[in-house]
Amino acid sequence: MTTMRDERRPVLGVEEALGRILEAVRVLEPERVPALEATGRVLAEEVTADRDIPPLTNAAMDGYAVRGADVAQAGARLRVVGEVAAGHLSAVAVGPGEAVRIMTGAPVPDGADTVVRFEDTQPEGEWVRVTRAYSTGKNVRAAGEDVRAGQVVMRPGKVLRPQEIGMLAAVGHLEVLVIRRPRVAILATGDEVVPPESVPGPGQIRDANSYTVAAQVRTFGGVPLLLGVARDREELVRRGIREALARRADFIITSGGVSVGDFDLVKQVLAAAGEMRFWSLNMKPGRPLAFGVIRSAAGDVPLLGLPGNPVAAMLSVELFARPAVLKMQGLPIRPRRTVTARLTEPIERKDGRRHYLRVRLRRTEGGYEATLTGDQGSGILNSLVLADGVAVIPEEADHLPAGAAVEVILLE
Ligand code: AMP
Ligand code: MG
Repeated sequence: MTTMRDERRPVLGVEEALGRILEAVRVLEPERVPALEATGRVLAEEVTADRDIPPLTNAAMDGYAVRGADVAQAGARLRVVGEVAAGHLSAVAVGPGEAVRIMTGAPVPDGADTVVRFEDTQPEGEWVRVTRAYSTGKNVRAAGEDVRAGQVVMRPGKVLRPQEIGMLAAVGHLEVLVIRRPRVAILATGDEVVPPESVPGPGQIRDANSYTVAAQVRTFGGVPLLLGVARDREELVRRGIREALARRADFIITSGGVSVGDFDLVKQVLAAAGEMRFWSLNMKPGRPLAFGVIRSAAGDVPLLGLPGNPVAAMLSVELFARPAVLKMQGLPIRPRRTVTARLTEPIERKDGRRHYLRVRLRRTEGGYEATLTGDQGSGILNSLVLADGVAVIPEEADHLPAGAAVEVILLE
């Protein structure tokens, strides 16, 4: 939704902005990785079974391999002619009136078609008595009953979970083709911002955003590339962008330098080195959000310019970078889990923007209750540290009384 509330500049709605960002990112190419490293990745090839699993007809229980015809009635007495364990083949076949001791997973000997459980037998020297009637085929697993040689067990697009990793091992497919993880360059800006490992001087603050964003990118499956802090000079921000390209970034995230006080640093860089697509959103926090592409020899690289305020920065990454990073990996873009909760206090505002309020949730008999985590300023990182989720206040809701129901995105 595009609104003109500000009169001077068109302000983009959250969904429209996301649509434009997703248009600018593509699914990345595949790479081969060890199956053990492939959990959560998207398969980019067809995987077929190289052999039958199980390879041979085998026992589903510990007991005796017998001929079904011999045990159709309770009380059969059979001669024990051998023994077979899992991983071995029986040296003897089972003839009429005979039995072979067999362990779970061991191949059923020639001549046998049924396994009688130990629990249903009584040993009698070299003989065994079967105490109940059995139907032919009982407790026997057929060769290939799990998968057949040549069968397609997974197709491209499959998100690999632990069970798929196990199947890759079972069929001997230990190097697997999956969509590559996006490399996400992260550049902080600000004369007052210093790397977190240095001691801030007077008036300086540590760069919190690069760490927040790196941690978020990692949870989305991306590879963060931390480029440090650039001072508020166009040339230094451009140097950071060049480094991002040199390190083959698929996506660039900057923080700070998108507000008027910073002379719109990131906007200038985008205009000079690429193309600005939008720079203002109808949301709070996070109105000054810039998006565009940087032109490079290897193609356009999308750049998301976050506001410097830590809450606005994190929320913008959650709303806009997460879907992009998922899409680049070929993953489905599933919305976060939400709950409906009742506000414990009224909310008043008149700006027509979509607000994201940090709340703590409490479960009551009547459902969830949402309480604001104190000061909702976009620079109050602690309002996120204390939060279980963010309540979404729609654009048109100017007044919400205590008790009003709101949707809360869970920060899990
Ligand atoms: P800006 O968007 O550059 O005007 O920054 C807005 C506010 O966010 C200022 O108070 C900055 O000090 C703060 N800020 C900017 N960058 C960071 C950062 N990397 N970590 C923490 N706070 C920041
Ligand atoms: Mg700044």
